[in-house]
Amino acid sequence: PVAGNPLAGYELYANPYYSSEIHTLAIPSLVSAGKTALAAKASAVAKVGTFVWLDTRAKVPSIPTYAEDVRAKNKAGANIALPLVVYNLPDRDCAALASNGELAIANNGEALYRGYIDSIAAHIKTYSDVKFILTIEPDSLANLITNLNVQKCANAKKAYEDSTIYALKTLNLPNVSMYLDGGHGGWLGWDANITPAAKMFGDLYKAAGSPKAVRGLVTNVSNYNGWSLATCPSYTTPNKNCDEKKFVNAFAPLLSAAGFPAHFLVDTGRNGVQPTKQIEQGHWCNVIGTGFGVRPTTNTGDPLVDAFVWVKPGGESDGTSDTTAVRYDAHCGEADALKPAPEAGAWFQAYFEQLLTNANPSF
Ligand code: BGC
Repeated sequence: PVAGNPLAGYELYANPYYSSEIHTLAIPSLVSAGKTALAAKASAVAKVGTFVWLDTRAKVPSIPTYAEDVRAKNKAGANIALPLVVYNLPDRDCAALASNGELAIANNGEALYRGYIDSIAAHIKTYSDVKFILTIEPDSLANLITNLNVQKCANAKKAYEDSTIYALKTLNLPNVSMYLDGGHGGWLGWDANITPAAKMFGDLYKAAGSPKAVRGLVTNVSNYNGWSLATCPSYTTPNKNCDEKKFVNAFAPLLSAAGFPAHFLVDTGRNGVQPTKQIEQGHWCNVIGTGFGVRPTTNTGDPLVDAFVWVKPGGESDGTSDTTAVRYDAHCGEADALKPAPEAGAWFQAYFEQLLTNANPSF
């Protein structure tokens, strides 16, 4: 264990939101299909700690419910931390369509975002005895490295930067550890991207006043890359950083040189099977041939990585495959995407069954 690892000694909260998706949706459907062995395994998945996604303002008032439960369990002798995803930037998901959010820059989105952050911070202050682990804004800053050719991203650049700085400053609280989303090896790992990315994270961190609560980056969020692969899958060629171990080890010295704390979380929720059936490493939507990966643990074997975690709750969709939907993204219609798929975040039973059947380690 590395000194200062904020997750050391903690278990991550197995939240009732994910657990109820499994108990009210997944298990009844498995049982009625006669898949009783899988149903039994599903109830074990419900006990895995996963992040709660605050993907709308309406989800913020649920924080006290979770925090009360964590507090009570800790009083009874547990040592649980509460993992949350801060995910509501104005003009969110600027390079894709599937996860477009509720706030728009053109519609007072930056001020509304500050209000969203303020209300999260208020709850965190109320529960000063509870440890919060925060993932900050999946995909957003990585999009500023590779997708400024997309008009929506170019327009959003300043708002993403200012809003992220506001979040880092406001959530810089003693009972918080923040990890900014750091993309993944198949994205920021490319030679052309990795150095500019390190500089961007360093600049932003300094602009936020080098907040103590920022611990590092979380990589592979909602993605499928392996941790440490003997052979790079063909669809990753010619990217040298084809897995997350290579990526974080290449990224860390550049981040340190840029003045950014080089510690990591890695999402292993859906990376159990390698290689996947991806046609390209950049394909991200409901990819086929995947399975649940290593359970959350601080036993990572790499001093750079504080923990393997499950950020994306496996079984929730990445995006709809309905070509007529407003948030239809072509990635969700690719040959390597499981179909038919519901809207992002909605329960996707067939995908859950795929992850469970292929889980590695198995349940
Ligand atoms: C969706 C969110 C959802 C999250 C976790 C994202 O792709 O946009 O609504 O909460 O995935 O499943």
